[in-house]
Amino acid sequence: MSTLFNNIGCLFTNNQDGTDAASRDLGEICDAAIVVEDGKVAWVGEAKNAPAADEQIDLNNQTVIPGFVDSHAHLMFAGDRAEEFSARMQGQSYSAGGIKTTVAATRKATDAQLEANLERLIAEMHASGITTFETKSGYGLDVETESRSLAIAAKHTSETTFLGAHVVPQEFRDSAKFGSVEAGADAYVDLVKNAMLSAATPHAKWIDVFCDRGAFNVDQAREILQAGINAGLAPRIHANQLENIGAIQLAVELDCASADHCTHLTNQDIDALANSNTVATLLPGAEFSTRSKYPDARKLIDAGVTIALATDCNPGSSYTSSMAFCIALAVREMHMSPAEALWSATMGGAKALRRNDIGHLSVGASADFAVINAPSYIHLAYRPGVNLISETYIAGRAVTK
Ligand SMILES: [Zn+2]
Repeated sequence: MSTLFNNIGCLFTNNQDGTDAASRDLGEICDAAIVVEDGKVAWVGEAKNAPAADEQIDLNNQTVIPGFVDSHAHLMFAGDRAEEFSARMQGQSYSAGGIKTTVAATRKATDAQLEANLERLIAEMHASGITTFETKSGYGLDVETESRSLAIAAKHTSETTFLGAHVVPQEFRDSAKFGSVEAGADAYVDLVKNAMLSAATPHAKWIDVFCDRGAFNVDQAREILQAGINAGLAPRIHANQLENIGAIQLAVELDCASADHCTHLTNQDIDALANSNTVATLLPGAEFSTRSKYPDARKLIDAGVTIALATDCNPGSSYTSSMAFCIALAVREMHMSPAEALWSATMGGAKALRRNDIGHLSVGASADFAVINAPSYIHLAYRPGVNLISETYIAGRAVTK
């Protein structure tokens, strides 16, 4: 069964054929068409040259882009923190410790409640043009809740990440019990890299650590990531959101697929990223929602670093599932061009997940695309706060109504 998606105003393929993907070539074709067969792109080009197909869908001269690849989200949680957001906007500062309310709610939630919340967020993501998402655990912080969070997530995405090392939970911060704060943290690191990792591994592809002030130091992060690598998981890392404690150098040392946040970087860090296979994933929703300084995307791009843009969707510091909103912030606040932002939210995300089958619409790629009801993708940034995505397709099938 083949389907011809016809009458596309302008199509952006991120075409890899014969071009260096790093050149961020958007592969624009106007008056275009796509043929999809068995969920994959079978043909792409100008509509006047399109081959016949079993059925035809008219896209009414709208714009088509590869589906967004959201390579960083935290969707396994219960509860909400609207009051905390409100207080922060009125002057309270953000710290990594604010997640304990989410941890308490998540531990209490049933599997059905966690899955219903996940499905609600997936529906939002589809409506915003996201066709692949990664999600982390990290709001259980005990063996049972981390493991069941990942088991539920794995029913909905292959991109599951074990983040037992999000923060040290409250019960390990009892210095009377452990002798000192440091001893409590060390005991938690032991739990993460042994019993928790064993329970998480069957449901996870990736391992991640929040390596920052108030979370885990570089030595602890190295121990945990190395334990995950030894168990067959691939590493990624939360690095340099709040401070620079050396996490970028660790990311490059361990060949992490991605170093995420990258707000506080030295020139040495930027050089290290530029000469590595580690993508810098920027999460401007977090800076927006914590009223923090944005990372310097311009400097990173000019140095040759590969950049992904992702939502960081989570209830504490970036409660958005809208990639278009992140693109608008990247353009307005981080000095990326609209073309660079689109590339980073599609191909950049795919590279941050080390995937070749998504993030572009070359022949053979998964037929994952979003239809924009506007004359240009530039409208994603030019019309902030307006959802211009009219339809989203995954493997050629509509996932939005
Ligand atoms: Zn995160």
